[in-house]
Parts: sequence; C-alpha cells; structure tokens
Amino acid sequence: MSNARRLLILGGAMEARRLADAAVAQFGTALDVETSLAGRTRQPRAPAGRVRVGGFGGAAGLAAYLRDQRIDLLIDATHPFARRMPWNAAEAAEAACVPRLRLERAPWRPEAQDRWIEAADAADALERAAGLGRRLFVTLGAQEAARFAERPDLDVTVRLIETDGAPAERPGFRLIAARGPFDEASERALLEQLRADVLVTKNSGGRATAAKLAAARALGLPVVMVRRPPPAPAPRVETVEAALAWLASRLA
Ligand code: NAP
Repeated sequence: MSNARRLLILGGAMEARRLADAAVAQFGTALDVETSLAGRTRQPRAPAGRVRVGGFGGAAGLAAYLRDQRIDLLIDATHPFARRMPWNAAEAAEAACVPRLRLERAPWRPEAQDRWIEAADAADALERAAGLGRRLFVTLGAQEAARFAERPDLDVTVRLIETDGAPAERPGFRLIAARGPFDEASERALLEQLRADVLVTKNSGGRATAAKLAAARALGLPVVMVRRPPPAPAPRVETVEAALAWLASRLA
C-alpha cells in the first residue's frame, strides 16, 4: 500500500485547479491529490490528479467520505460565492478530525475614481441598477440573471461562461457566452458597443475578470457590486502559494 497522504480539494474557483496542478508538481508521490467538483460546469478544465464529480449529501455525507477515503487534508477552494459548501466543509472536517483550510481569493476593492454601489444579492442589485440607468451589462450567474429577464423596462445584456440554465433571449434581453480572462480594451469596447449605463457584477475577486472594473472606471460608469456571503470559519488563506505552504507544513 502507498504511504502517500491524501488531499481532497473542493473545487469551484479557478484557484482549485491551480492548486491541484501545483500540489501534484510539488509533492509528487508523497501526496495523492483528488479534486471534487459539483458538476455544474459542462466542460470544466481538468486539474492534475484524480477528479470526482457530484455532491456528497450535506456535511454528514462529506464527513463520511473523508473517513471512508481516509482523507488526511481538506482544502476548500469552492467559489467565494458558494454559500453552502464552505460551511459543510468546516463541519465535516471537524466531525472527521481532518485538518481543513479555506482558500478564498481576496475581494476586489474600489479605487479612488470608482463609483461602486454595494448590493446584498441579485434582487437588490437589480433594484439599485434600475435606479441608475436603463441599459445594464450584467455579469452574474445564470440563476441570478433570471430576474433581470423579467424587466421589459430595462435593456439587459448578461455575460455567462455557459448559457445553460439561463433565461431565453428576447428583444431587450441578450446573452453573451464567454470565458475570461478578458482585457481592458475589449471590455471597454463591449461596454461602449452596448452603450451600457451600469455594470452589475459580484465581488468575485481575482485578475481574470477584473478588466471590466477598469473599463467601467475609464468610462465613468457606476458599478453595482454584489457583496460576498459571510466568510467560512478560519483558517483561511487568499492565495494558492499560501495554501501550498499550509500543505508543506502539514506534510512535514
Ligand atoms: P454551494 O451552495 O456551496 O453548494 C451547493 C451544493 O453543491 C453543496 O451543498 C454540495 O452538495 C454541492 N457542491 C458544491 N461544491 C461542490 C464540490 N466542490 N464538490 C462536490 N459537491 C459540491 O455552491 P453553489 O453556489 O451552488 O455552486 C456550486 C458550485 O459552483 C460550487 O462548487 C461553487 O464553488 C461553484 N461556483 C459557484 C459560483 C457562485 O457564484 N455561486 C460561481 C462559480 C463557481 P452536497 O451538499 O450534496 O455535498
């Protein structure tokens, strides 16, 4: 039997794949790396190591998985807007006595020239955006975008990675399917082409999709920014490098 320690990464954010790739490269046969995906993205980019797909059945199901699979270490790299999994991970890790780390990238912070209006959720964002202008460029998930389709008084363009599960297009409600990274020049060109009055987004953080904020700043557009859900319990780190350091200290 192999002496490798077993790491389970809960995927969902792009850092999960970078972490799996780096952990396999750095720790080699000393670490058996498995990434778990919820299965929402049709064609996820495969991380190094093994991959499993689908829910565990709540915190109890995850705790049972940690025990059955003899997982030694758990890193929760689900998306900053994942509401349930970070809490399930904390509860399951405690129940199964498995050390857990939350990897959650830093949120974006407004710069001096930015006009950001914070919103609690998509419904709040819609109301705030509608008060600022009629032409909205929206980068929220398919489910969150659904309520924007129900406003014929607005002209809405929604950008998604995949349009599965999104409401149907109609005059005044358009979908764009695109996966980042995006650059500032093309984001600015898109906002100008759409003649957007407002950018509606959520505070995902990271570099891949930050160019729209720079473009909005350059054009003087207001940004309605949905704030993150409450952070999962500590310990937390913001970078893949810090997560690798945690792994190294646990494996030492
Ligand atoms: P969620 O509320 O935290 O998760 C809902 C349920 O999906 C969980 O209870 C769990 O089912 C299952 N699940 C989530 N992550 C999983 C994983 N890595 N492996 C196996 N099962 C997982 O998250 P969500 O907002 O519905 O998002 C679903 C997935 O998409 C997450 O992995 C998230 O990181 C990712 N994502 C979310 C957003 C967003 O804005 N919400 C954006 C980009 C990516 P069980 O209880 O049955 O285990």
